[in-house]
Amino acid sequence: MPGVTIKGLTKRYGDVAAVEGLDLQVKPGELVSLLGPSGCGKTTTLRLVAGFLKPEAGEIWVGDRCLSSPITVVPPERRRMAMIFQSYALWPHMTVAGNIAYGLRFKKELSKADREKRVKEILRIVQLELSESRYPGELSGGQQQRVAVARALVVEPEILLLDEPLSNLDANLREEMRFEIRRLHEAFGITTLYVTHDQAEAMVISDRIAVLRGGRAVQMGTAEDLFQRPRSRFVAEFIGKTNLVDGIATEPGVVTRGGVRLRVASADLTVGAPVALSIRPHMIELVADHQIGTVSARGDNLLRGTVQRASYLGDAVDCQIQVEGSDVILRVVAPPGLRFRQGETVSLAVAPSACIPLVESAV
Ligand code: ATP
Repeated sequence: MPGVTIKGLTKRYGDVAAVEGLDLQVKPGELVSLLGPSGCGKTTTLRLVAGFLKPEAGEIWVGDRCLSSPITVVPPERRRMAMIFQSYALWPHMTVAGNIAYGLRFKKELSKADREKRVKEILRIVQLELSESRYPGELSGGQQQRVAVARALVVEPEILLLDEPLSNLDANLREEMRFEIRRLHEAFGITTLYVTHDQAEAMVISDRIAVLRGGRAVQMGTAEDLFQRPRSRFVAEFIGKTNLVDGIATEPGVVTRGGVRLRVASADLTVGAPVALSIRPHMIELVADHQIGTVSARGDNLLRGTVQRASYLGDAVDCQIQVEGSDVILRVVAPPGLRFRQGETVSLAVAPSACIPLVESAV
């Protein structure tokens, strides 16, 4: 099972660089999501990997084969890849079994009996045995999606490419299909590139996520890496909700903004330099007066503030707190049992490890 290596990949449309110097490595058997806002180059990257587009610069390797470069592009049908589109692209006049068998049209070496056997087997895996004679128009969105997945898997590709495959499904089904895609990935272990703009989907499905912006990968890591250790404002804000506090490093490991002084996760700061901190709302604890001693003893930052707004959400209370002595407003997600009044004064505890300095130069 080979992996995919992308080096310095660039694709322009006129003056627009859709992909610009993209470097990316997908390990053998790994599922990597390309995640980013609209227009960041996800689909263009996938189409370059599939061989539908030729790059202006850079190379795409699968194992030890160079498949794309400015001088040569191996055609899509010779890449041992399968692609699943947002639209499913099923043939409406063919049955489910017919659509899946269509995926085998280039496998001339297979006998009719072998084809039928493979189609039956894949129908079983995607749980569509009972629908094999139906037409796409007689299936639900989720079932059509399964047919598209089955048609891609039946050819036993080395690489699987998926472009927003769940975006046409309703919200509940989309959630269910995330687990289904992950299950199939675990069963087959095919090296996979998965395009999505939905961070929760990427977090559920992927081994690792590459966050794209302006045609480049700005950070790559597991969902946990990206959530807990974002390197830039862009990643901190794109993966989950966060508070951004712009301050100055006033001592090693200390960032100050107005009257707010925060000990932070890293001591590796240049004193006097501006530093942006990311603090996740659920990492800020609202503490009662009698707990203040305990919180200080464990070394947390302690702040005082005024409740500006508190919204009960059922599983949590979403609050906005104006921090005393500064212009900092923090969003805090508190347990639902706590009740606050607007204008109430509260104490906040934030562990230094929850104050993540961002690398300003990282875009
Ligand atoms: P989305 O999530 O909206 O599909 P994306 O991240 O997949 O976005 P791409 O479709 O790769 O983004 O597009 C990247 C950039 O290249 C965009 O600015 C887009 O307008 C431009 N682009 C893409 N395809 C073409 C084309 N065929 N001609 C001209 N510009 C294009």
